[in-house]
Amino acid sequence: MEPVMVDAHLDLAWNVRALGRDLTLPLDRLRAQDPHPDTPLVTLPSLREAGVAVAFATLFVDPREGGIDAWQEEVWAQLALYEAWEGAGLVRILREREDLLAHLERFPKDGTLGLILLLEGAHALPTPEDLRPLRARGLRLLSLTWATASPYAGGNAEAGPLTGAGRELLGEMERLGVALDLSHLAEEAAWEALERFGGAVCATHANAQALVPTPRHLPDPLLQALGERGGVLGLVPFNAFLDPGWKRGMKRLPLAAFLRHKAHAEAFLGPQGVGLGTDWDGGFGLEAVPEGLDRHRDLRALGDGGFLGENWLRWLRSWF
Ligand SMILES: [Zn+2]
Repeated sequence: MEPVMVDAHLDLAWNVRALGRDLTLPLDRLRAQDPHPDTPLVTLPSLREAGVAVAFATLFVDPREGGIDAWQEEVWAQLALYEAWEGAGLVRILREREDLLAHLERFPKDGTLGLILLLEGAHALPTPEDLRPLRARGLRLLSLTWATASPYAGGNAEAGPLTGAGRELLGEMERLGVALDLSHLAEEAAWEALERFGGAVCATHANAQALVPTPRHLPDPLLQALGERGGVLGLVPFNAFLDPGWKRGMKRLPLAAFLRHKAHAEAFLGPQGVGLGTDWDGGFGLEAVPEGLDRHRDLRALGDGGFLGENWLRWLRSWF
């Protein structure tokens, strides 16, 4: 049997609500009708055909637009969308450990996608206590920022430390069983968070800073520390995250550009600490990913069963 796949970062609800895409369509049908200049890479059927068993599905709102009321409303609307898919039998939301274990038993028979909910950016939480109602509806992962600094911590585009509210939020996460996603966090804040937080840690979508020198990616000592914590890094097959010289409009990079990041990350985390976090379609499309990767089933060429899914599953089983 083919190994199952896990994708640790997909902005599915955002694609529906912000880009107006119908992700229940076969990928080729969506491509034929989508007006957006970035060719879509993902729909629910394209995940099914690839054998993706689990996806970390985001609740995402851009902190550069709107304000706290609008963000809260949008987060709950995206959550409701995932619940509607679940109601229609299109996905299973994995809220508790028993959901995960039952899903992994059922998946080989029915191929239904399991979703683990990730709030991408704590700016959408008015206070640390506002994590509770989301956890009650199934949220299991949180990143403290998205690019800009949040009231909780500095971000990759706006450096800063962990704040008092950030420390409180980490305590709340630990009590509720919500894992920490280091993606988008400022390095200074990431080190303090790693030191204080006793729960499960990962980076759902980031690459090696040694190869793409921007604060969006993880420096080698952080990769090492993440590995020592038993964490997993989800690598992003997005050309601008693979080669600092790549710009929109250039031709697609060869697969080797991705494999370089994989080898580098594996040297610091160990091969058991690296997997996929594609971030498809989080603001780019087919034109911006390496040649040969046109849909999820093509990702199978990138690594063994550990890399494709088992590393994430082992991590999930360890704390979920
Ligand atoms: Zn995202």
